[in-house]
Amino acid sequence: MTGDVRVRFAPSPTGHLHMGNARTALFNWLFAEQHSGTFILRIEDTDVERSVMNYEESICQDLRWLGLHWQEGPDVGGPYGPYRQSERISIYRYYIDELIRKGYAYPCYCSEEELEKDRTRQLSEGRAPKYSGRCRNLSDHERIQLEREGRVPTIRFKVDRKSIKVDDMIRGIIHFEGALISDFIILKSNGIPSYNFAVVVDDALMKVSHVIRGEDHIPNTPRQLMLYDALGFSPPRFAHHGFLVGPDKEKLSKRHGVTSVEGFRTKGFLPEALMNYLALVGGSFKGGREILGREELIREFSIERMGRSSAVFDKLKLEWMNTIYLRGLKSNEVLARLTPFLESAGYDINLMDREWLLNVVSLILPNICTLSEALNYLDIFLKKDIPITDSAFEVLKDKTAMDVIGELKELVKGADNISHGAYKEIIEKIKGKTGLTGRPLFMPIRVVLTGTTKGPELEKIFPLLNKEVIIKRIDQALSTLPQRQSQRW
Ligand code: GLU
Repeated sequence: MTGDVRVRFAPSPTGHLHMGNARTALFNWLFAEQHSGTFILRIEDTDVERSVMNYEESICQDLRWLGLHWQEGPDVGGPYGPYRQSERISIYRYYIDELIRKGYAYPCYCSEEELEKDRTRQLSEGRAPKYSGRCRNLSDHERIQLEREGRVPTIRFKVDRKSIKVDDMIRGIIHFEGALISDFIILKSNGIPSYNFAVVVDDALMKVSHVIRGEDHIPNTPRQLMLYDALGFSPPRFAHHGFLVGPDKEKLSKRHGVTSVEGFRTKGFLPEALMNYLALVGGSFKGGREILGREELIREFSIERMGRSSAVFDKLKLEWMNTIYLRGLKSNEVLARLTPFLESAGYDINLMDREWLLNVVSLILPNICTLSEALNYLDIFLKKDIPITDSAFEVLKDKTAMDVIGELKELVKGADNISHGAYKEIIEKIKGKTGLTGRPLFMPIRVVLTGTTKGPELEKIFPLLNKEVIIKRIDQALSTLPQRQSQRW
């Protein structure tokens, strides 16, 4: 690679960070890291109505959470700032004036209604809609007339090219027919530049060497190349990667479920799992390996190989990957990651015995695939009252279940301690008294102690509870039994 690698991620703050955009950010970041280059964050907030400051903060937070740190950006500054487009309006204005002065751009006074009429006429004649060029060659006199009418112009770029060629790093050479591209708007009548114009000025002035972005920007590229030419800037290399799509091969959107990084973060996915998954999906690494840490991803990443086709988002695979990463963590690390979840559920871990809590965490770890799922199991240990789910309650309807629970209560009451040994003894005694074994013996105990029919091993749960809690849960189950039975029958 010759020259300094400088890449950018340029989100518009109109929503939370979408998984597809996070993948674009990740590709740029990996590329920068691989080449010891610079990763720039630029906020494209010129769509004033749709841009929201909160979303900028949310996007930044999620990028940081994923571990994608930028060296230049709105918060950290850098030599080519400002890095928020809304703060660069005077820079764009300068280059717009340059293009007008050199004859590459001109004011267009057409109203929306006139443009709409042109479009309808062209369509009815079976032609692709295209700007008519009405204002291309206006005389000074005509211009003054139109301005007197109170018309505020847009500025259009004069397209004179016959054909344009893009050498895409992922897709190879792409040809565009110049005749199909009409004079396009570079400055809107409200004084805000169009996306195509602002992006070229910014990429050029920020010395961006490679533009890695989604395939939806392919049609913009010939327009951008014409602007590079007219402005006398040398263009970057382009790489347009495929989209992240749902199982129906449509672009990943809300109807596919959770699609924002924020959504996955709050569900308790780990950033390293998400990073690994987003780097992997749609491509493959050498030797078919799937689990690669940050450094390996940086080393093995290849934009050409990863980005070619669209990538089907597979939630189950992501869950599987998250499970692998989660189980690879030490219990004190899991506890650290769980702490915000515990806090938002109203628990104060400072009031708990740390050793005990770590034992609880190690016990539930094999049963969970995300951090938020841990709460379902942690409640067993942290809450005094455990509601019994309706389906688990079915277990208690059995007459023998009541015998088991009755015995359990007496034996727990009489036990000196609630250790693993005590559990074994209690079970043996219930077995002897009731003659039950297997499911009819263990399931009522599980339901009363945990409220559900699934979860970690009972013999490991038991010693982590205390005597009062166990007795309370038994009493509660027994007292609600007649009431719940009458509701059902
Ligand atoms: N703001 C644009 C987007 O969110 C960035 C496009 C580009 O990378 O050039 O799609």
